[in-house]
Amino acid sequence: MVVVGGGIAGLTAARNLVKAGRSVVVLEALSRVGGRMVRRSVAEGGWVDLGGQWAGPTQHRLLALSDELGLKRFPSYYGGEGIVAFDGIAGRFKGDISTVRGLPGQRSPAPAGAVHDAERGTAALATLARSVSPGQPWTAPRATALDRQTVADWLQRNVRTGFGRFVIANEGVFNSSGGTLDEVSLLHLLFEMRANPHGERPDSDLYFGGAGQIPLILARQLGDRVAVKAAVRAISQDSSGVTVTTAAGRFRAGHVIVAIPPTLAGAISYDPPLPARRLQLGQRMPLGTLAKVHAVYPTAFWRPLGLSGSAVGTLPTVQATADSSPPDGKPGILTGFVAGQGALSWATRPWAQRRQTVLADYRTYFGSRASSPVDYVEAVWPANPFAGGAFNAFMPPGVWTGYGPALRAPIGRIHWVGAETATRWYGYFDGAISSAEREVGAILGKT
Ligand SMILES: Cc1cc2nc3c(=O)[nH]c(=O)nc-3n(C[C@H](O)[C@H](O)[C@H](O)COP(=O)(O)OP(=O)(O)OC[C@H]3O[C@@H](n4cnc5c(N)ncnc54)[C@H](O)[C@@H]3O)c2cc1C
Repeated sequence: MVVVGGGIAGLTAARNLVKAGRSVVVLEALSRVGGRMVRRSVAEGGWVDLGGQWAGPTQHRLLALSDELGLKRFPSYYGGEGIVAFDGIAGRFKGDISTVRGLPGQRSPAPAGAVHDAERGTAALATLARSVSPGQPWTAPRATALDRQTVADWLQRNVRTGFGRFVIANEGVFNSSGGTLDEVSLLHLLFEMRANPHGERPDSDLYFGGAGQIPLILARQLGDRVAVKAAVRAISQDSSGVTVTTAAGRFRAGHVIVAIPPTLAGAISYDPPLPARRLQLGQRMPLGTLAKVHAVYPTAFWRPLGLSGSAVGTLPTVQATADSSPPDGKPGILTGFVAGQGALSWATRPWAQRRQTVLADYRTYFGSRASSPVDYVEAVWPANPFAGGAFNAFMPPGVWTGYGPALRAPIGRIHWVGAETATRWYGYFDGAISSAEREVGAILGKT
């Protein structure tokens, strides 16, 4: 069996095939495995994840795998208050952005009218989401109408105040794969709300040593079954098997599992050519435009000030932050997200300027101590040609209803796997793992 892509999905597929006694080779384009999971050591004995990092209590496939690999988790820090900096509204809030709206008994820095507006908008979206099946979003009763508009169109028509739109947009970006809301289909946001319920707290735990250890351990266990610097360029299939062509040679197998985002899969050439709907799907699923940064301090200095390290705002560079420090806050790590078109122009600046603009926003959120970290690292995901962006791929208007059925359907001996093919925890580690389990199960059942 050949597996294309050495991210968590491809490595899990290979692991399960090996467990079932099959021979397998994983072909990875880069010189490292892990894809959108990258662990990095930083100053003061710390570590960060440049890609995904959090796990949640209902991400059962992820928890089972990481337990089996012997990794330990700890609760991500959310004590104290968060910071909001939106136009004229600046202040603290309890918990995460959703509580900016002022949960019962909590104060909100926003005017009551704006808070009410945000609450009404969120409730309306939740009602719409109930009509969408995560397995087949295109079958929702009003799928065509929901898929004809962007999230921004809907917000403009249904949420009156700028603050209300800001609150929902903040939740939206984290529930729409990192795509900006003027490009993401409303149906896609509703699908993610169903597939990835944020009420189940997918960001509740962090891994000691970083989530990025998982693919490294899996690859170590697979040994020389993993080939790096082996970008797949072509896949041909005939009645007896598949031939997969890479920079490192050709590989022949009974089946191929393609474990990369659909748009990157679309850049491979196929013989015979893919059916039109699948071919066109590969042209229509962009990844979000987002960079991730981390600043490292000797201690999490914000915690004694009663701050959680979470901030959201409309500052020039960093739209959201979180505390990624270990439990004792040593070192202190503030993670930031730079999103949207602004991330692309920010990414063209020299490194020193990028760092400086990030730290300027950190200073606005957390005060002058944030200006002098002992370390600073970043990952500009839209510039990684074998990722294509962050967090994940999303559907622009018209794509779920026009092309959705082609997302998971195998084509002869070609099977599609990866976080973007999951119906539960779509775009998350957990979804990537379950997608591999789903497709390996189907292949083993057939052969
Ligand atoms: C900044 C960021 C933050 C995130 N935060 C979280 C989080 O906190 N929790 C969470 O659960 N998820 C998070 N995610 C999402 C999560 O990281 C991904 O959904 C998951 O890692 C995807 O795994 P995958 O194996 O499906 O794809 P990938 O990780 O993209 O793996 C695909 C692999 O295929 C390789 N490849 C691509 N094209 C080819 C080719 N032609 N030939 C050979 N190899 C190829 C790539 O190099 C890559 O190694 C985040 C992602 C990012 C980027």
